[in-house]
Amino acid sequence: MDLVCYACGERSEPISRTRCSCGEPLWIDVPAPSTWPASSDPGMWRYERVLPTDVPSGVGAAAGGTPLVRTPAFDAEGVGTYVKDEGQNPTGSFKDRGSAVGVAAVAAGGGTRVGTVSHGNMAMSVAAHAAAHGLDCTVLVPADISDERLSNIARYDPEILRVQGDYGDLYRRTLSPGVETPFLNSDTPLRVAGQKTTAYEICEAFSPSVPDAIVLPVSSGGHLSGLWKALRELQAGGLLDRLPRLYAVQAAACDPIVRAFEAGETAVSGIEKRETVAYSIANADPPSGNRALAALRATDGGAVSVREDEIREAQRRFARDGGFRVEASSAVTLAGVSRLRERGEIREGEDAVLVVTGSGFKESIEADVDAETIDLSDLDRRLS
Ligand SMILES: *Cc1c(COP(=O)(O)O)cnc(C)c1O
Ligand SMILES: [Zn+2]
Repeated sequence: MDLVCYACGERSEPISRTRCSCGEPLWIDVPAPSTWPASSDPGMWRYERVLPTDVPSGVGAAAGGTPLVRTPAFDAEGVGTYVKDEGQNPTGSFKDRGSAVGVAAVAAGGGTRVGTVSHGNMAMSVAAHAAAHGLDCTVLVPADISDERLSNIARYDPEILRVQGDYGDLYRRTLSPGVETPFLNSDTPLRVAGQKTTAYEICEAFSPSVPDAIVLPVSSGGHLSGLWKALRELQAGGLLDRLPRLYAVQAAACDPIVRAFEAGETAVSGIEKRETVAYSIANADPPSGNRALAALRATDGGAVSVREDEIREAQRRFARDGGFRVEASSAVTLAGVSRLRERGEIREGEDAVLVVTGSGFKESIEADVDAETIDLSDLDRRLS
């Protein structure tokens, strides 16, 4: 398995490299699969043949294999809607797919420590998988992280360093050759390799048909890159006769990829971001932004931003109408699919898969509570 650049085609080694000499992120090339696996391996390890590591023992074996749920409650004007529920991963997000591969690879190579730069799901996930392999773990968080998120990470007992300074610089610094600890950041090749299995699962579930659209929240572009990689592999192996269209949804408060897409650019520029409830998708200078743009265009998909009020309403609708407790960052998919339907980018009679990237159970919420106190003696009357 080689590293290859999607942009210029250059091949490189070793597997620990993350960037091509042209500056773009690398990904891991594997021989295209020509059949769906006849495998009894758990979760995402069903696709072990196209993964760079073997099934790990411990929590990594529980990554992926998430439900794809038909959700008529979200059908809008003739679009058949499905939810890919990544909240059911061991730490509640798709990040476990990438961590399972990345941490297993570090352990298999004899490493004793892994690191990550994250203030949320990725930190929890890397720390959890490191714990299962008995590896030390260093998590670099921004100094102003909330106590709630810090506690969620600390539960897995990594070394946590609160870093003051620019977060984008921090990300790049951890990938520089002088750093000995392998950092499993959002778009490192091992992580993207694991995260491609989201699309393997969706496509196999639809096979021999193909979903028309896959709609997902995008921040660094690592997950979207993985989905695109999977589609390319499946198409090369003859397992897809056409490509699903990939759609990126971002919060309008931080939407550098949507802006670049709409402006017809081939490169994403960093922006000044505003506050958003969708904190997991608030990367203002996405490291795989250019690759994300290429993925959207190559699949004839698109990009859309949604406002804060739309995100909050979509998050309520996910629970109230569908029974899904999703992170605000994942709720953007429902708001996004309505917008895409209005614009005619997703049409009547088509199927759309909403990738619910993370569970809402780890965020505290302020819900409008309507709960009356009654006396037990009144119960019969109230229930009749
Ligand atoms: C990390 C994350 C994303 C964004 O994924 P990228 O690979 O950074 O684009 C979306 N939703 C949730 C819940 C996440 O944790
Ligand atoms: Zn290149």
